[in-house]
Amino acid sequence: MTTTLYLNGRVFQAPASDSSADAPTASAFVVRDGAFAFIGSEASARAIAAEPDATVDLGGQLVLPGITDAHTHLVMMGEALGQVGLTDARDLAGIQRLLAEARAADPDARVLRGRGWLFDSIPGGAPTAAMIDEVVADIPVYLDANDYHSCWVNSAALRELGITRETPDPSGGRIERDADGEPNGMLYETAAVEYAWVQRDLAMTDTDRDEAVERVLAAYSEAGVTGVVDMALNEVALDALQRAAERRGGELPLRVAAHWLVANTDDDAANLEQVERAEALAASYASPWLRVVGIKLILDGTIDACTAAMSLPYADGSNADAIWPADRLFPVVAAADAAGLQIAMHAIGDAASTMALDALEAAFEANGDIARRHRIEHLEYAAPGTAERMAALGVTASMQPVHADPAILGNWIAQLDDSRVERGFAWHEYEEAETRLAFSTDAPTAPYGPLANLYVAATRESALDPSFPAAQVMGRTVPIERAIVHATRDAAASVGDASWRGEIREGFAADFVVVDTDVLSEPVASLLTARTVLTVVGGRVTFEAEAHA
Ligand SMILES: [Zn+2]
Repeated sequence: MTTTLYLNGRVFQAPASDSSADAPTASAFVVRDGAFAFIGSEASARAIAAEPDATVDLGGQLVLPGITDAHTHLVMMGEALGQVGLTDARDLAGIQRLLAEARAADPDARVLRGRGWLFDSIPGGAPTAAMIDEVVADIPVYLDANDYHSCWVNSAALRELGITRETPDPSGGRIERDADGEPNGMLYETAAVEYAWVQRDLAMTDTDRDEAVERVLAAYSEAGVTGVVDMALNEVALDALQRAAERRGGELPLRVAAHWLVANTDDDAANLEQVERAEALAASYASPWLRVVGIKLILDGTIDACTAAMSLPYADGSNADAIWPADRLFPVVAAADAAGLQIAMHAIGDAASTMALDALEAAFEANGDIARRHRIEHLEYAAPGTAERMAALGVTASMQPVHADPAILGNWIAQLDDSRVERGFAWHEYEEAETRLAFSTDAPTAPYGPLANLYVAATRESALDPSFPAAQVMGRTVPIERAIVHATRDAAASVGDASWRGEIREGFAADFVVVDTDVLSEPVASLLTARTVLTVVGGRVTFEAEAHA
């Protein structure tokens, strides 16, 4: 038995229920064989751990439960971390400088990939291949936009992709062209998917994916994250995560639960085959470090691109059909529910979330009273009453405060341009209805840092650009204490782990994070500068800041 005594901390414990008073705090705790054995006063902790194997003085710092990112994409995030980050470059010269530096730093590179650039940084919002060619022309350059809905490439990349003036636009996408009809470097929506990203995935080796996984595991550990829900796993990503576990004797530094992506093939039998594959994987991947827990269904697109399915049209009069029509969706939901799989449905527009709940109700009716734990992802604009309906059905609301960062919300607001905006990202409605509310980042579509995510939840101000005005048009904020609970206890509960992790509580897994700033007492802006000092998962240190070590 290994016993570690932790003293002189400020230990955050979740309140007994969301409605009760302040969360209790303790100053000491004992970790024995990977679990919390005691939390309370120093005198009692010393008595319980009379001869500890180690004693740690926490220096009065704040201890939070380990954070679970309840919706992320590990391999994609790891790939993104290996690319040139362009979000902070606020003009074309800044982007060109970063690209030139990256090219100079890696003369042997055969391709240059960047991510996160903003249309606002480009003159007229109209990027061209020539702008990249000015600084890097000898190798292909691929630059994913901040929202991952388009890709900006140079002339060498257009050649690599075989895109010419004769190449037609794919359905649902556009190859931007100049006045003479020549492709000029921008690939929108499915044009980015079918050309740039297909090419990227084909070029990617297992070694590349292994490096991506190592980058993302290290980054999350450094950020105080101890668990994640990978939301749209496929075969190559699962293999890469399995290899990462094998390199460590089966134990990852994060507890990974995954939802298997089931795509609509417009063929019921082929759709159900994918559910059966998920069922088989759930049976064989069941360790607390790497589990397949359910399926993911993408019911619609995004409000920014007017591809989310709404019950009323967008400001421009358009609307979008759901990606899964009801007659294809219902059999898949019923089969997955009967198989005991957790179902996660991406539903950004109100027509999509309403259809998701209709499908679940039909499945519950058909399958009777069985244990189940389903969820809806995003819920950016949901019909009034959705929170109450979800609470009654026991469905988790999985939401990403960082997607409501005011710095990236202008287009979102413009696309709706009516009273619906006031009910956008309505976290408080789910709290009031007592729907389980799990917070996450959906990285890499948004930054993965959990404290910045809590900042947006608690302020509706911008973590990307704190000088940006707050999104006052939208609903209420969530107090920081409750935001933490949604990112820890409730995020763990979203994959059925409420009985053993997500809280600093006796008998629970010793997953916790020590931060250098008391974000509960300091002004809320301290969330943007606070740093992780120590991350512990199951009693094991997965990150320790240098000054602390
Ligand atoms: Zn996602």
